[in-house]
Amino acid sequence: MSIHDRYRLSVVINARGTYTPLGVSRSSDAVAAAVAEALPEFFVLDELRDRASEAIAQITGAQAGAVVHCTAAGITLAVAATMTGGDPRRTAALPDTTDMHNRVVLPACHVVDYGHSNLQGIRLAGAQVDLAGDEDACTLADLEAELDGPDVACLMLVSSRLTRGEPIDLAAAIKAAHRRGVPAIIDGAAQFPQIADLLATGADLVLVSGQKYLGSPTAGLVAGSWPLVQAVRAQDKGIGRVMKPTKEAIIGVLAALEEWQAIDRVKWQADERAKVDAFVAAVSRIPGIVVTAVPDPTGLQVSRVLLKVDDAKRIATELEAGSPPIYVMTDRVDDDELMLELVPLNAEEIAAVLARLWAVLT
Ligand SMILES: *Cc1c(COP(=O)(O)O)cnc(C)c1O
Repeated sequence: MSIHDRYRLSVVINARGTYTPLGVSRSSDAVAAAVAEALPEFFVLDELRDRASEAIAQITGAQAGAVVHCTAAGITLAVAATMTGGDPRRTAALPDTTDMHNRVVLPACHVVDYGHSNLQGIRLAGAQVDLAGDEDACTLADLEAELDGPDVACLMLVSSRLTRGEPIDLAAAIKAAHRRGVPAIIDGAAQFPQIADLLATGADLVLVSGQKYLGSPTAGLVAGSWPLVQAVRAQDKGIGRVMKPTKEAIIGVLAALEEWQAIDRVKWQADERAKVDAFVAAVSRIPGIVVTAVPDPTGLQVSRVLLKVDDAKRIATELEAGSPPIYVMTDRVDDDELMLELVPLNAEEIAAVLARLWAVLT
């Protein structure tokens, strides 16, 4: 009996990408086996976390790394690290930030919602957010004006397809912060494959998700400078207690990192590209549909399938209402566009998506 049958759960086809309400990603057999092996065992957690730090540092080139519960937790704990510096008294005091620098500068176009707003993720540490610029653009001058204010704890930037407005030159923004002695954090949750590039911007801490493109159990990876990563870990004895990584998650991250290093990325990218091209060719035979492959806007080596259809909202609703339900990206339905991500889908699921598109559209 499958796990879905056993607990009376819907089997779904997830073409929506690394989406939390659908379970984000599929872990490999090797990662699942490592997690299963970890569950019945005891460990010295500090040792496990040291091994994770070494592995993250080795694969990213950062000085140190930490595993936290998830990227959202990473946002809160990275901010806490910049406010407390890991000092035990301050760590115990949060979210009371009396006598700490507690202002976080964030470009207004980097306010994103991944289930909740990152503004809340920042405020959860006790910090206040000062937005720079507006939803359409944040210039360097806008950022400098906020960074020049009093009590700035850090600059927070987001690298994601969810940001709006004109792209921001991350390296230049970070330089502006560093000129004022202010550390910078980048939330690049869905960009594990680009973590080295994000660190190369000069960011002091980079946050990525373990469960998105790395395929680990739910976990956030923090990579960056030695002192700030230690300050993130120090939050375990403070607000980090409610966001702790589990032993099985840390082991899962270690196994996923090992697998990531062993895999032939060039071949992986070529295979994914071929999958998208074949799907686009097949969909283009359906009358009344315009289909193209679109690259990820943030430079991730993942293409998605863009469908232009009449009444995209109805199509998405019908796909979700079928059996099994098919979930696609619907953030652009108002422009009659649907987007599909094929990365986790197998040949059988892709065939099922094609058959349903034919049925719904003709
Ligand atoms: C998904 C996402 C998050 C949250 O990641 P979790 O690991 O699920 O907490 C944070 N920021 C951005 C930009 C995201 O895309």
